[in-house]
Amino acid sequence: MLRIIFLGTGGSLPTRNRNPSAVIVNLKGELLLFDCGEGTQQQMMRAKTGMMSLSSIFVSHFHADHFLGIPGLIQTMSFLGRKEPLTIYGPEGTKEFTEVFKVLGYCNLKYEVRGVELSPGDIVEGKNYVVRALKTEHSTPSLGYSLIENPRPGRFNREKAVELGVLPGPLFAKLQKGNPVEVNGKLVKPEEVVGAPRPGRTVVYSGDTRPCEAVLEASRDADVLIHDGSFADEMAGWAEESMHSTAGEVASLAKEAGVRQLVLTHISSRYTDDVGPILNDSRKVFENVIVAEDLMELEVSYRPD
Ligand SMILES: [Zn+2]
Ligand SMILES: [Zn+2]
Repeated sequence: MLRIIFLGTGGSLPTRNRNPSAVIVNLKGELLLFDCGEGTQQQMMRAKTGMMSLSSIFVSHFHADHFLGIPGLIQTMSFLGRKEPLTIYGPEGTKEFTEVFKVLGYCNLKYEVRGVELSPGDIVEGKNYVVRALKTEHSTPSLGYSLIENPRPGRFNREKAVELGVLPGPLFAKLQKGNPVEVNGKLVKPEEVVGAPRPGRTVVYSGDTRPCEAVLEASRDADVLIHDGSFADEMAGWAEESMHSTAGEVASLAKEAGVRQLVLTHISSRYTDDVGPILNDSRKVFENVIVAEDLMELEVSYRPD
């Protein structure tokens, strides 16, 4: 399973329908949080994501709308009896901010919370995935992230295996695991019956940024690109000044990268009543786009072989 749940999709100012930034990914039961704006823990409750399987929080940058949810969330997990460590990853400043989160209020955390600072290109290795930090362009030190699932084993060719005299059962399993087996004094190698490894799924999260090279490169052939789409094109000047992106700019990037699905988020409060301008400006360039809503869920399937 790879499910993306949009917990907060608002821009710098929250609105009645949009919380500040937070996106949670459930990858085979492990929860990864990308940004953690104010109110994230209650959004997790509404979305029924659970909390205890949360292993890491990846912060894109330390503007308040991206991290204010952390102190409350880590306290709640302590009250709930969490024992497993939690890691907060982010750009420079992350260690210092993490120490502040830990001592904010008279709380006495019952588990370890550590801050790890990443530089562009750094890789965090998980059980089933890696997360790569991406250089982004915003008005404070900032990072985007690319979540890359580990490749899946290649397809097993049963007919070919039987043809080579291998009996279904333990020998099949051995070949699938990449080990040769001996049949009637003859060696059958895994590469004779197992296809090339198949790529896992890739989800890119831009955080707040101008359209930029590292996000474009990471998005090549990605399954999902979640990008700052703060404004419609009419606000191009302000988007540039405030170091955000317009729908049209992001659509061009998504088209060039060949992403399967573009999701625009960090929607400015000026589109509270109507996201039409954002959607239209994007669709002119790239058809496969969604404007995220709070509590929207997106299941990412494997590509057909
Ligand atoms: Zn923001
Ligand atoms: Zn920002």
